[in-house]
Amino acid sequence: MADQYSKELAHKILKGDIPAPFIISVSDAFKITSDIVTKSWQLHWDNHDKARYTYNLIPRVHTKVIFPTSREIGVTYCRLLLHDPMLRDDSHRTGTSHSPLCESCSVNESAEHVLLHCSLYDQARRGMRDYYWCLCKAQRKNIRKFSACFYM
Ligand SMILES: [Zn+2]
Repeated sequence: MADQYSKELAHKILKGDIPAPFIISVSDAFKITSDIVTKSWQLHWDNHDKARYTYNLIPRVHTKVIFPTSREIGVTYCRLLLHDPMLRDDSHRTGTSHSPLCESCSVNESAEHVLLHCSLYDQARRGMRDYYWCLCKAQRKNIRKFSACFYM
């Protein structure tokens, strides 16, 4: 709606139907500049041939990525986002691991395997599933204090 209004206004100014303002506020200049930079950045992000794995996870620029407070987990999270998790499957390909296989499951140790299937992390996955189940349940019941869900 506002975008359509802006386009119509710009078209009228270009045609000479409406005189363009000579003076704009600093605040408006910042907004215009920010909008141009964001659109330029998005256009570049949409059409670049690098980092397509990350693009598929985060297609919009200005998306706020929330990192965990634990540095070690944050680094792992970044590596997963950048499609370079340094797991055995990747490390074997680059020559820094003797085997691409998971020590526990004897299948390629990829990000998908570790996050979704590896028996070493069954308990962590169950904990995460329970956490989200409680979160969904709390939202359905409109529970204000999420922690109360664990004690119901
Ligand atoms: Zn495994």
